[in-house]
Amino acid sequence: MSSYERNVAQLQAYRQQASDEQQRLKERMGKIKHKIAVISGKGGVGKSTITVNLATAFAQKGNKVGILDADIHGPSVPKLLGLEGKQVKTGPPGAFPVEGPLGMKVMSIDFFLAEQMPTIWRGPLKMRAIRQFLADIVWGELDFLFIDLPPGTGDEPLSIAQLLPEIDGVVIVTMPSELSSAIVKKAITFAQRLNMPIIGVVENMSGFVCPGCGEKIEIFQSGGGKKMAEEAGVPFLGSIPIDPKVGADSDKGTPFILSHKDSAATMAFMKIVEAVDERINKKTIT
Ligand code: ADP
Repeated sequence: MSSYERNVAQLQAYRQQASDEQQRLKERMGKIKHKIAVISGKGGVGKSTITVNLATAFAQKGNKVGILDADIHGPSVPKLLGLEGKQVKTGPPGAFPVEGPLGMKVMSIDFFLAEQMPTIWRGPLKMRAIRQFLADIVWGELDFLFIDLPPGTGDEPLSIAQLLPEIDGVVIVTMPSELSSAIVKKAITFAQRLNMPIIGVVENMSGFVCPGCGEKIEIFQSGGGKKMAEEAGVPFLGSIPIDPKVGADSDKGTPFILSHKDSAATMAFMKIVEAVDERINKKTIT
């Protein structure tokens, strides 16, 4: 075989591989009724915490739920669900997600890495990993897949927008500070440019309810998220106060809505869940 023929054969093999993968992606994603991504303009605003608690709330309602941790460099979903160190089982149909609380199916790059190993990957590799997470993981029939995206407007959200044009929409998490709101405006524009419908904006860490006297203290200037959502013409889903129990639950690896059902944070959060549910079911997302 000449080198020209070898190149042609190789190209054909690549094309075939890509088309098989595309077919698998279509089949696997076709079995999932709703896909919701959670994004933020910057890190540390509680995006992953909100993703796992949103997923838990929908699982609690009796839905079959999956969570894809699409944060390749900073995966935190396994830790938030107490699944660190779990192994992925594989079989002929592909790799199986790890089972989390309430039977949730969870997938993260963290399950494939040796302890504390950072991923040093550039754009195309990250895109490939996300494609494989969608196409090669045996998700099965699901009502909801929640996707935790890394902060910012980089390769991962871009990949999700390209690979899942049928996505229901994105939930955008912000914090009540001017800087964060300015950054999250970019996230809104990014989602709009990529034609990803916006389910709404959540303001996290919105004030602090004193556990002693019950008084609400505005640590940051609350209300920026609502104002920003109004200005951008996108729905505001609600705000969640700072609650030390949320941080403690994250460290323990339990969703706060399960371990602190009556806390101020859970009560505020459940209103947001209802707002998301209504937007999804009434199909009012634009
Ligand atoms: P992100 O995904 O945006 O980087 P995380 O979800 O990892 O943020 O949250 C960052 C930290 O803030 C975690 O320790 C988490 O427990 C804590 N946290 C998030 N929301 C709250 C809240 N409402 N009250 C108190 N701590 C919170």
